[in-house]
Amino acid sequence: MFDKILIANRGEIACRIMHTARRMGVATVAVYSEADASARHVAMADEAVLIGPPAAAQSYLQIERLIEAAQRTGAQAIHPGYGFLSENAAFARACVDAGLVFIGPPVSAIQAMGSKSEAKRLMQAAGVPLVPGYHGEDQDSGMLAEQAAAIGYPVLIKASAGGGGKGMRVVNDAGEFAAGLAAAKRESRAAFGDDQVLIEKYLLRPRHIEIQVFADTHGNCVYLFERDCSLQRRHQKVVEEAPGPGLSESRRKEMGEAAVAAARAIAYTGAGTVEFIVSSDGQFFFMEMNTRLQVEHPVTECITGQDLVQWQLLVAAGEELPTAQDGLAINGHSIEARIYAEDPERDFLPATGALRHLRFPLESDHVRVDSGVREGDVISVHYDPMIAKLIVWDHDRAAALRRMQQALSETEIVGLTTNVDFLYSIISNPAFREGGVDTGFIDRHRDELTAGSNPDPDRTLALASLFLLVQRKLQSISQAQASHDPWSPWQRGDGWRMNDDSNCVLEFDLGQERLTVRAHYSGEHYRLDLPGGSVDGEARFDEDGMLLASLDGLRVRARVVQQDQRITVLLDGHRQDLLLHDPLESGQELEAGPGNLRSPMPGKVLQVMVASGEKVVRGAPLIILEAMKMEHTIVAPADGTVTRVCFLQGDLIDEGVDLVEFLAD
Ligand code: ADP
Ligand code: ADP
Ligand code: MG
Repeated sequence: MFDKILIANRGEIACRIMHTARRMGVATVAVYSEADASARHVAMADEAVLIGPPAAAQSYLQIERLIEAAQRTGAQAIHPGYGFLSENAAFARACVDAGLVFIGPPVSAIQAMGSKSEAKRLMQAAGVPLVPGYHGEDQDSGMLAEQAAAIGYPVLIKASAGGGGKGMRVVNDAGEFAAGLAAAKRESRAAFGDDQVLIEKYLLRPRHIEIQVFADTHGNCVYLFERDCSLQRRHQKVVEEAPGPGLSESRRKEMGEAAVAAARAIAYTGAGTVEFIVSSDGQFFFMEMNTRLQVEHPVTECITGQDLVQWQLLVAAGEELPTAQDGLAINGHSIEARIYAEDPERDFLPATGALRHLRFPLESDHVRVDSGVREGDVISVHYDPMIAKLIVWDHDRAAALRRMQQALSETEIVGLTTNVDFLYSIISNPAFREGGVDTGFIDRHRDELTAGSNPDPDRTLALASLFLLVQRKLQSISQAQASHDPWSPWQRGDGWRMNDDSNCVLEFDLGQERLTVRAHYSGEHYRLDLPGGSVDGEARFDEDGMLLASLDGLRVRARVVQQDQRITVLLDGHRQDLLLHDPLESGQELEAGPGNLRSPMPGKVLQVMVASGEKVVRGAPLIILEAMKMEHTIVAPADGTVTRVCFLQGDLIDEGVDLVEFLAD
């Protein structure tokens, strides 16, 4: 076994690999870009080497620098993870040439599967079933159109060099063909520097079922069963599970053996995945082979009890596979959900920002969390927006689904938009719970799946109000204890004012609406006048900072997080953001900055309402920002002059940057 390996990757997969290496007594070297200097994978490694600026092209994709880093630290092998250079034959070759072991298949196998067209020719020869289609060398557009017609519409045009769902176009009839072909070629050229395409029959309502295979250098090759990855958006996986719901024993064996035949046909070694598309009548066809560890490998680990990274290291070190085919069996059911920084309501647009508050469920025999981030880290534009993977295991699918619901509802992410609510809706969806959904499920159910994320606004308002009221009370108690006269009525946090009836008004923006809550205090109780009626509320914080609230006698446990005026309420796997309008607090916040006005959150400039040199009065709106689907107005903190406006309408801004330079009179 190796003494030391270098991991040519970042994020959760780098951490995942180090986890196993450490367990096996293998030392680890991390590499990192300038943007990742304080990242979790760097902290976790025994050694770490800076390889360049933030952009992946100048750091994680720099073959020479990675090889140098391995040589400098004395690493004997390089694990490429997934993404980045993991399926790059030139990188595998460079490792071998430098006398390093590439923890992956031989260069020839990567090359053979690198082109989807070439791969299909090889698989045809090996007797693996293919989707009807054309995968020849000839790329004449007239001939391609004829092929499409012969296959029969609808067809799918695919970039031969494609990956990650890029360079694919569905064409429904002959009239659309030319435009679809041009688009697929354009996208492929831009993403992969190559515009060769293949054409396939576009299957309606298919499932994506893939087989994990493993081969060693001693001629052993096994399959570790299937993963159903049909739950996709933009042809990319979101939720994966193993075993595949409803797959029969005989079909499982047939697919497993076809996958092993595919691997043997290219003298494969190490971990690989053979992806099949399965038609609604259960026929399966080879799609492609991914010559690396897959993002969703943990579900296979959960049902087989094997550690696939350990297997990879063993095979790379020349050892035999730990188990033969008859030593492998499926135990229980496992599901993975990928947590992405993205907005499902805006066509899954990736989101960026800081992880201001981050809590994952506790890990156990039933719950695994693979993540490469810590609270305070930033999801930047430079890398993949995946934040973490939640993986659950239980004896059967129904139990695993319940575990996943629970794990998602215990996942708390505040600071940027994520798909956690969306995942919760998927896991709760009756059609998904029945099992065996097809790859078009998310598209067809989009509205229903995003609508689930709007819980009762009154309850959200009540929780946000109780959070603020209890917090104020606690603050005033601690202030009073520190002051000379703890019993002075001026120190009371319960709204007591001379000639007043002990109540206060809180104003929030929820979505597009401005909503008001009047809170009447009596002892530990609050009567909250909410838009939908009055509620009797009570609350306190537990040791973990959770808000334990009672609303008309109904107990709930919620996480409420405040960042400046933004309040986020997390309850039962749903998240709601509100903006607090508190003239007193917003005044204090604005006055805190010396002269310049800063952005309270990352967002977009919707409107600039002043010009440089303009005189304004206190409270005048200067700039309107949009963040988290809400508008936020930056107002003048005093009478004065705007000496400079730093952004234009439409600009994207980070949190904490100067928006306006301001000189008070
Ligand atoms: P899978 O089928 O396992 O989802 P993909 O081909 O979609 O595999 O990619 C694997 C992962 O690596 C995805 O999370 C993808 O976004 C990420 N990835 C792919 N290419 C890159 C890259 N060049 N840089 C960073 N991440 C990448
Ligand atoms: P990538 O390299 O981007 O992963 P794949 O060939 O694996 O490309 O296809 C990605 C996804 O596109 C599949 O998981 C499936 O949802 C869909 N897809 C691919 N081929 C077909 C097909 N012939 N018919 C219907 N859907 C398909
Ligand atoms: Mg694929």
